[in-house]
Amino acid sequence: MARPTRISIDLNAIKANLAHVRHLAPSSKVLGIVKANAYGHGAVAVARAIAPLVDTIAVSCMEEAQALRMEGVKSPLLLLEGAFTQAEWRDIAGQGMIAMIHSDYQWQWLQELAMPTPVMAWLKVDTGMHRLGLSLEQASEMMARMRSSGLIHDQLVLASHFASADEPDNPLNQQQYHRFSELHRKHPELLASLANSAAIMADPKYHLDWVRPGLMLYGVSPFGCEEVDKILRPAMTLSSQIIALREVKKGEFVGYGNRWCAAKPSLIATVAIGYGDGYPIAAKDGTPALVNGKEAYLAGRVSMDMLTLDVSHIHNVKIGDEVELWGKRLSVNRVARYANTIGYELLTRLPSRVQRDYVD
Ligand SMILES: *Cc1c(COP(=O)(O)O)cnc(C)c1O
Repeated sequence: MARPTRISIDLNAIKANLAHVRHLAPSSKVLGIVKANAYGHGAVAVARAIAPLVDTIAVSCMEEAQALRMEGVKSPLLLLEGAFTQAEWRDIAGQGMIAMIHSDYQWQWLQELAMPTPVMAWLKVDTGMHRLGLSLEQASEMMARMRSSGLIHDQLVLASHFASADEPDNPLNQQQYHRFSELHRKHPELLASLANSAAIMADPKYHLDWVRPGLMLYGVSPFGCEEVDKILRPAMTLSSQIIALREVKKGEFVGYGNRWCAAKPSLIATVAIGYGDGYPIAAKDGTPALVNGKEAYLAGRVSMDMLTLDVSHIHNVKIGDEVELWGKRLSVNRVARYANTIGYELLTRLPSRVQRDYVD
């Protein structure tokens, strides 16, 4: 492809980040999360790369799981939102997938189906986030019935999810941890899982039997840190090139809607990437991008296929120079703040229009 807009994915960085998870949580099993196209990194390529290094791979739904199976990924696959319909339970069982049971109706469906072989499942409980999961009372009662029913495999994992793990001092974390521990104490025969990336990095007591890293695998700080992490290695670099350069006089405007006005004579670089490529239109003037490794600043509203940078202060800028929009040297979290969003969102909404290149 001649258009220079690229997503470059460093699979070795993902493997190194996974090794860091193992280092932090040496006694836990690892559920590698590749939902939402591996946070935009390409689910098939990432799953193939991490398959030998994780214990199970997680996706959000059956469609995502089947896409991996079709491409030859043989690892155990867990569906984080479980069955969406009763019929789907048959496929889950038939294809040996592992399903999260987060609501009573999913368990009812399973009882009605009364399939001959037990399904593999995780049981999600709501310890305070109030998004998914059985209430603590419901869970306690249901677990006994599940185990005696013969419908569910013995290796049942009890799971819950933190609402504010990215704020380690938030008191809700301790509250959720205590509620979870209390339930687990009543059912010590079950395995337990609580930690997403932020919780893995925040406190070893959250590690338990299974850790569930997502964002940290991709080398982005789950705490929203805007510096490139010293330990985690960013896996994705979004880049393009300068396709036009012009001098604008003081008082001239740049881009749609006259948003940016030159306060002095300025050099403006036009870059071949826009909101049609996943770069956020919400990005404010001043959002950083790296031109030949030096910081340039967004000047004017992002267009569909292009954006404009003020490069007045950078020497020897030329047509064809490389521009990093985020990645190895510029944290996606930093760009996200200028666009009133979070790194997770910028990563997951990159369109298929932009080619992904893998380096291994
Ligand atoms: C997405 C997800 C994770 C991973 O979260 P990160 O913050 O990306 O580490 C962990 N657990 C569950 C249940 C999830 O849905």
